[in-house]
Amino acid sequence: MSNPLAVVTGASSGIGQAIAKKLSDQGYSLLLLARSFDKSDAKSLPNALYAPVDVTNESDFSKAVNEAVKAYGAVECLVNCEGLMLLGDIADQSPSEWRQMLDVNVLGLTYGMQIVLKSMKQRNSGTIVNISSIAGIKTFPNHAAYCGTKFAVHAISEAVREEVAGNNVRVVTIAPGVVETPLLSHTTSDAIKSDYTDWKKSIGGGLEPNNVADAVYFAVSQPQSVCIREIVLAPTGQAS
Ligand code: NDP
Repeated sequence: MSNPLAVVTGASSGIGQAIAKKLSDQGYSLLLLARSFDKSDAKSLPNALYAPVDVTNESDFSKAVNEAVKAYGAVECLVNCEGLMLLGDIADQSPSEWRQMLDVNVLGLTYGMQIVLKSMKQRNSGTIVNISSIAGIKTFPNHAAYCGTKFAVHAISEAVREEVAGNNVRVVTIAPGVVETPLLSHTTSDAIKSDYTDWKKSIGGGLEPNNVADAVYFAVSQPQSVCIREIVLAPTGQAS
């Protein structure tokens, strides 16, 4: 298949940007989504459409995918990589932060799956990669709401994998430990940010976004008859 279409959300920064570059280098056409690409370096990839879309708006999300399908053909691969990590103590964190994370990390990702699945099932082909986290497997202090969203990503991904296995569609969950990206910057508590930064230093720093992009491509590049259901990767120095 020449230049199959991959859709990557959260592609303006960090892990999503690295995945976009990796898939581009491997010959994919791309639809890249994020609310804004104004400050992003990910803007110069060939055969790529850039859609400034909020994934919590399912109609805008769906419209952007339909336009890319018109330009490049059916979606062969969707990588759901958008995400927010607003760390906080549940006793005093604003519920609006829980809602933002649920909307983006859970609903946005589920909209993405629904938007591409009908066609993938009809074609008996396709791969969905959901970027979860090690925080979707185990809990950490100040991560209650974030862990809730990432445990949900694991559960939804596994349930959907079972639903579409008979249609030859793969669902892959990637669970990274700490990665060097701006993800932490949106947390509002300076004390929590500072503790997290000290902890990251103490373990020798995080993975590079490229490490996660390589894991994504490893799963995607297997024959369609092989589903790598889950990859957990973390810095060697990260014990927890
Ligand atoms: P970044 O903050 O670098 O990237 C987050 C991306 O999500 C940006 O492109 C951002 O773009 C996009 N995004 C956020 N909200 C929305 C929205 N409403 N609609 C569309 N796009 C949105 O963080 P990472 O690269 O680290 O995070 C990517 C994924 O990896 C997340 O799901 C995160 O939970 C997960 N992860 C990260 C780890 C880490 O340590 N960094 C560890 C484990 C998992 P914009 O703001 O322009 O919309």
